[in-house]
Amino acid sequence: METEARNSNAVSSVDGDGSPRKAPAPKWQFADVIGVVAETPETTTLRLALPEPTEFTSGQYYNIRIPVEGRPRPIQRAYSIASPPFPKFDVVEFGIKEMEGGLVSPVLAKQTKVGDKLEVRGPYGAFVWSEDKGGPLLLISAGSGVVPFMSMIRYAKAKGLDVPMHLLFSSKSAEYVIYSAELDELEAELDWLTVTHTFTRDPQHSGARFHRRIDREMVAELLAESGAKLAYICGPPEMVELCEVALVELGLDPENVYSEKYD
Ligand SMILES: Cc1cc2nc3c(=O)[nH]c(=O)nc-3n(C[C@H](O)[C@H](O)[C@H](O)COP(=O)(O)OP(=O)(O)OC[C@H]3O[C@@H](n4cnc5c(N)ncnc54)[C@H](O)[C@@H]3O)c2cc1C
Repeated sequence: METEARNSNAVSSVDGDGSPRKAPAPKWQFADVIGVVAETPETTTLRLALPEPTEFTSGQYYNIRIPVEGRPRPIQRAYSIASPPFPKFDVVEFGIKEMEGGLVSPVLAKQTKVGDKLEVRGPYGAFVWSEDKGGPLLLISAGSGVVPFMSMIRYAKAKGLDVPMHLLFSSKSAEYVIYSAELDELEAELDWLTVTHTFTRDPQHSGARFHRRIDREMVAELLAESGAKLAYICGPPEMVELCEVALVELGLDPENVYSEKYD
């Protein structure tokens, strides 16, 4: 159920004659920062133009590495792609949440400017969705775990698909909802998209249906309501593990439960 995170180097594919072939391992490249958008007090969108773009699937991630004072080599971290791979994949967006005391995320989220260059390598990962996997889908995220789901939702919209998707999104409060305005607009526009918010530190707010951490009861309610056949879970490891167990106990085939842990 889990996907390889930091160490995958090659993407498998199949040749015209059906024999397995390894795609060349992605190489480090210097991307141009062409957009910086503050999404919430702690999360920033970085838009990067890639000199050597590679086709990717929604849900995949890049590694980004930066020099860190006192370290002999650059330090790398994984960041999911927020933008859709269609119609173009030469510009990719990331949603970076500043983790206090962290080595890399504070630099990316708070100090990076348009005109900077960032060293990136990718795409990687098997936590992917495209129309061939079908649906209906239950997407469960907390905090920056929503990033790969934005790629999936934006992709489905760009392609004109109508696979039902229900996003359960846990945030501290309304102020911390990443992509808040865009999610509201998309939900109003698209019949196939439902967004359910839960706020963990704002017990009164009417913008959320639930006011607690994601738990088994919530997952059961939304699984029944969405009629999901596939589930994707992304975010902190404890939340991901709780949801994996709950979904399988509630009857989903483990093969249809995909997870990505941001540890
Ligand atoms: C596949 C994948 C995709 C991801 N996608 C995203 C994404 O889209 N957006 C996103 O924001 N994140 C994402 N992440 C998480 C991201 O890769 C980083 O883990 C995150 O940004 C923190 O990195 P950092 O260098 O800032 O923190 P780190 O330096 O790794 O530190 C992490 C935390 O540990 C604490 N810490 C560090 N050292 C110590 C110590 N010695 N003692 C005690 N505490 C310590 C720090 O204070 C900090 O709070 C993803 C992770 C994976 C695996």
